[in-house]
Amino acid sequence: MAYVTGESGVPEGCFICAAVVPGAADGLVVERAELTVTLLNRFPYSSGHLMVAPRRHAAGLGELSPEEGLAVLAATRRALDAITREMAPGGFNVGFNLGRAAGASVDHLHLHVVPRWDSDTNFMPVLADVKVLPEHLEVTAARLREALGREDGDPGESTGAGGSGAADPAERV
Ligand SMILES: [Zn+2]
Repeated sequence: MAYVTGESGVPEGCFICAAVVPGAADGLVVERAELTVTLLNRFPYSSGHLMVAPRRHAAGLGELSPEEGLAVLAATRRALDAITREMAPGGFNVGFNLGRAAGASVDHLHLHVVPRWDSDTNFMPVLADVKVLPEHLEVTAARLREALGREDGDPGESTGAGGSGAADPAERV
């Protein structure tokens, strides 16, 4: 179960690997779990836009172990639940951008979770390269951290609503 943080082997310049390690990126990190890290997108398409990634620097789905794949899905479900409770969006776009041509900005696999509202302003970046965000990113991150903490207690503790189980216990950041 050993994984390495903060040691050599972390690709230089990878902001997701940087977020795995407690420190500078903490303001945007929503959850660090055993196999995953969840952080807000610094350049969001909507309020609450976050990314779920395996802790390990893996470029593609094929590089994930079955456990990591399940952990990414479990963390995604926790994030969806937390955003739903805190921000009550009308829906979500969830997906991978695989490869630079598809818009991936970093070769560390990550799943985008983009909350959507019926009246949201997502057309604005397309029209005018303007992004309207009603809430500061770090405030949003703090809200979601707290929401995840309420749902997911100590590692191993099982709660009904989230059903995340003990496979990928979340730790508080
Ligand atoms: Zn990385």
